[in-house]
Order: sequence, then structure tokens, then C-alpha cells
Amino acid sequence: MADRTLFQKIMDGELEGDIVYEDGSCAVLRDINPQAPTHLLVVPRKPIPSLDALTEEDEPLVGHLFVVARKIAAEAGLTGGYRTVFNNGEDANQTVDHIHLHVLGGRALGWPPG
Ligand code: 5GP
Repeated sequence: MADRTLFQKIMDGELEGDIVYEDGSCAVLRDINPQAPTHLLVVPRKPIPSLDALTEEDEPLVGHLFVVARKIAAEAGLTGGYRTVFNNGEDANQTVDHIHLHVLGGRALGWPPG
């Protein structure tokens, strides 16, 4: 069996993490190095390594991640707006090989991103 990912270990309670939401198919963690006043990571329980590894079978799961993002953004009071980001691969600075949807808000976010 492949090594479990950092996010699997956090979701399984083996490593510490601030989990703010959980359901049967995903969890939401506070980012350890927040880039905005609210910086949450919506992580599927299925350890898909990157967007490049997505298959048609994952379509409902990825849709679910966005619905959860919308709900937690509302719960966090991000009424002024927020950004959702999947980093994919080296040029996008993906550092954890288990897909996760960043939800950033609580300040004005520049565009284009760095
Ligand atoms: P990526 O660069 O892969 O898109 O995002 C990985 C994110 O995971 C980064 O924003 C980073 O701060 C966060 N991160 C890295 N290690 C940990 C950790 O141990 N716990 C939590 N909660 N977040 C982490």
C-alpha cells in the first residue's frame, strides 16, 4: 500500500490539525501557514495526488468539495468574497500530493496571483 499522505494522517488523527468540518467524503483544515485571515483547505478523504490524476469517477467528489467550500466560506463570514484555488504541479507550487481546495478570504486578494 502506498504511504499515507500528510492530510490522510491529519484526517485520521495521527497528526495534529485544526479540523473545522468533516463529512464522509472530505474534511476542512485550517492551513498551518495562512496566507489570508481565513485560509482553509477542503481535502477529500480519497488521496488523489493532483488534478492531473482526476478521472470521470471523481466528478461528483470535486463538485462536493466546492459545495463544502461555499458553506464554510459562509460560516466564516466571508461576505465580501473569497478565492478558491487548486494548485497543480511544480509551476503552481503544489507542495502536498493530495488534492486540496484552498479557500482564502478576509482581505482583498490581488490579481494576478504571484
Ligand atoms: P499546496 O502548496 O500544495 O497547494 O498547499 C499545501 C498547503 O498545505 C500549504 O498552504 C501549507 O501551508 C499547508 N500545510 C503544509 N503542511 C501542513 C500541515 O501539517 N498542516 C496543515 N493544516 N496545513 C499544512
